[in-house]
Amino acid sequence: IKDNLKRLIPAVDRELREAAVRRDREKAEEALEKSTQTLEAVVQSSPLAIIVIDPIGNVQMWNPAAEQIFGWSAQEVLGHPLPIVPGEKKPEFGPNRERGPQDKKFVNLERRHKRKDGVLIDTSLSTALLCDHQGEISGVMWIIADITERKRSEATINHMAFYDALTDLPNRTLLRDRLQQAMLIASYGSQSVGLFLIDLDRFREINDTLGHHRGDALLQQIGPRLRDALQASDIIARLGGDEFAVLLPQVDVEQATLVAGQIRKALEKPFLVEGIPIVIEASIGIAFSPDHGENPDSLIQHADIAMYVAKEHKTGYTLYSSEVDKHSPRRLALLGELRDAIDLDHLFLHYQPKIHLWTRRIIGVEALVRWQHPQYGVIPPDQFITVAEHSGLIKPLTLWVVQTALHQCNIWLQEGRQLRVAVNLSARNLEDPQLPDQISELLDASGVAASSLELEITESALMVNPAHAMEALTRLGNMGIQLSIDDFGTGYSSLGYLKRLPVNQIKIDKSFVKEMATDESDAMIVRSTIELTHNLGLKVVAEGVESLEVLEKLAALNCDAAQGYYISRPVPPSELNVWFNETAALKGWNL
Ligand code: C2E
Ligand code: CA
Ligand code: CA
Repeated sequence: IKDNLKRLIPAVDRELREAAVRRDREKAEEALEKSTQTLEAVVQSSPLAIIVIDPIGNVQMWNPAAEQIFGWSAQEVLGHPLPIVPGEKKPEFGPNRERGPQDKKFVNLERRHKRKDGVLIDTSLSTALLCDHQGEISGVMWIIADITERKRSEATINHMAFYDALTDLPNRTLLRDRLQQAMLIASYGSQSVGLFLIDLDRFREINDTLGHHRGDALLQQIGPRLRDALQASDIIARLGGDEFAVLLPQVDVEQATLVAGQIRKALEKPFLVEGIPIVIEASIGIAFSPDHGENPDSLIQHADIAMYVAKEHKTGYTLYSSEVDKHSPRRLALLGELRDAIDLDHLFLHYQPKIHLWTRRIIGVEALVRWQHPQYGVIPPDQFITVAEHSGLIKPLTLWVVQTALHQCNIWLQEGRQLRVAVNLSARNLEDPQLPDQISELLDASGVAASSLELEITESALMVNPAHAMEALTRLGNMGIQLSIDDFGTGYSSLGYLKRLPVNQIKIDKSFVKEMATDESDAMIVRSTIELTHNLGLKVVAEGVESLEVLEKLAALNCDAAQGYYISRPVPPSELNVWFNETAALKGWNL
C-alpha cells in the first residue's frame, strides 16, 4: 500500500497542479469574458462614436453612437473604407479670432463633418493608436463627440457680444475692431478710412408719441435702408439708441460727400411702421483717418463732434475739421478731457440749501457739479452734462457725484448737522440696470443712511423710457432713498403716470417761479401745480426763488419748501458753513 501510495503521489500532485492551472485559466477566461462584455457594453451604449480602423483603412468597429451621429449603419461601413467626409472650414465669429491647431496629439480636435444625409455637424475627435502584443500597429481608434449644439450656443454668445440684439447690426465693439483693421490697411496704401456717425433727429419724440415697440420697428428698418445706399464692403453698425455708424474702408472727401447725400436720400422716404408712415431726418458727422484721428476712439469722437455740429446747425451732414471744433460750442471739444477730469478729481460740487417754508427748517441741500478746467476755468454743468450723457461718461460722473456728496454729508453729520443731500440723475442713468446696486454700495461705504440721500430726476428724463424709469425708481425707492421730480412743468408727463411713480416730491421748474410775483399766468401755474401735487400726496419744492416777495407768495400758496438765490446761491461747503452761522441764523432758518 505504501509503495502504491508513493507511486500515486506524483500523479495526484500532477492532477492537483493541472486542476489549479485549469482553475486559473477558467478564472482568467471568465475575467476576460467579463471585461469583454463590459467593453462591449461601453462601446454599445456610449454616447460617443467609437470607430476602429484597420491599417489598410477599413472600418473594423462602428458603434451605435457612430450610426447615430453619422447616419451610416454598421452594416454599411464595416469592412469598408471610412465614409465620413470632412466639411468645409467653419466660419469664425467676432473680430479676427482665428483658431490655430490647439493640440498636436489629436486630443479634442474640433472638426466639421458631413453626415450621410449631407448635414454638417461639429465634432470633437480624439484618436488612439492600437497595437498588437508584438507592438505592431493594428489599427487606430477614433472617439468622436457630436458638439454641434455646444458650437451653436457658443456662436450665439459670440454673436451677442458683437452684434446689436435689436437690429442685428455690428455693435460698437465690433465697429472699433473693424475700424482698427481698416485704418491699418489704409495706412499701408496711404489711404483714408471714412467714418460716418448718423443720429436720427427727434427720434425721442417718435418713441414717446408712437410707443417704444414702434420706435424699435423703425430702428430695425434703418440698417436695410443704409445697406441699399452703400457698397457691400461698407460696414453699418448701431452704436446704441438712435445712433448708427457707417465705415467706408477707402474714400476721399469728394466720395464721402457723395455718400452722405446718398444716405440722407435713402432715409428721406417715409418709413412704414404698422401702416403708419414716419418721416425722419438724420444728422451725419464725418471724420477721416488719419487726419482726424489715428486710432478708432479719436476718429469716433471727432465724427461725433461733427455730428453734433450738423445737428445744431441743421446742415444734414458736417465734415470734421479743427475749424468745426473751434466754432462748435466748446463743450464738444471737451468730450475727450471729461474722462480725465473725473479721474483727476477736477470736478467739484457746490451745494444749495432748501428751506421748509412753515417750519423754517433747512431740510437739505442740492449738490450741483462744476468742472475746474486747467485752461478754461470753472465750466458750468450745462456745458458738459449733455456731452457726458452722449459719450457714456454720465455713469462715472454720476457715481462720482453721489460718492462725493455722501462723503460731504457724512462730514456734516460729524459736525452735528443732519442734512439730506440731493443729487441729479440724468435720463441715461435710469436706463442703466446696475445703477441702483452701485448707489447702494456707495451708501454702504459712506455710512450715510439711505433716507439722507435724495435723487432728482427731470420730468423729461422720466418720459424717455417710462418703463425703465419706473423700474429704476422702484428699486431706488425701496432702498429708502428719497425721490423728486425735477423741472416739473416743462415736460408732458401725465398725471396718471406720476401717480404710479414711487416719488416723494416734485420741484416746480424755476422758469415758473422766478417771475411769479409779477407774471399772473406763472403764478397760476405754480398755484395749480401745488394743489395738484398735494392731491397726489406729494410735497412741493419751488426752485428759482430770487426774492422775498416770491418766497412769501409761495408760503401763502401752501408750498412746502423753497430753493433759490434769495436763500443762497450754490456754494462750496466752506461757504455753506458761513451761511449756516450768519445768514441762516439771522433769518431764523435752522436745522
Ligand atoms: P437743476 O437741477 O434745475 O439745478 C438748479 C439750477 O438752477 C442750478 O444751476 C442752480 O445754480 C440754478 N439756480 C438755483 N437757484 C436759482 C435761482 O434762484 N435763480 C436762477 N435763475 N437759477 C437758480 P446749475 O448749477 O448751473 O445746474 C444746471 C443744471 O445742470 C441743473 O439744473 C442740473 O440739471 C444739471 N446738473 C448739475 N449738477 C448735475 C449733476 O451732478 N448731475 C446731473 N445729471 N446734472 C447736473
Ligand atoms: Ca436738480
Ligand atoms: Ca431743476
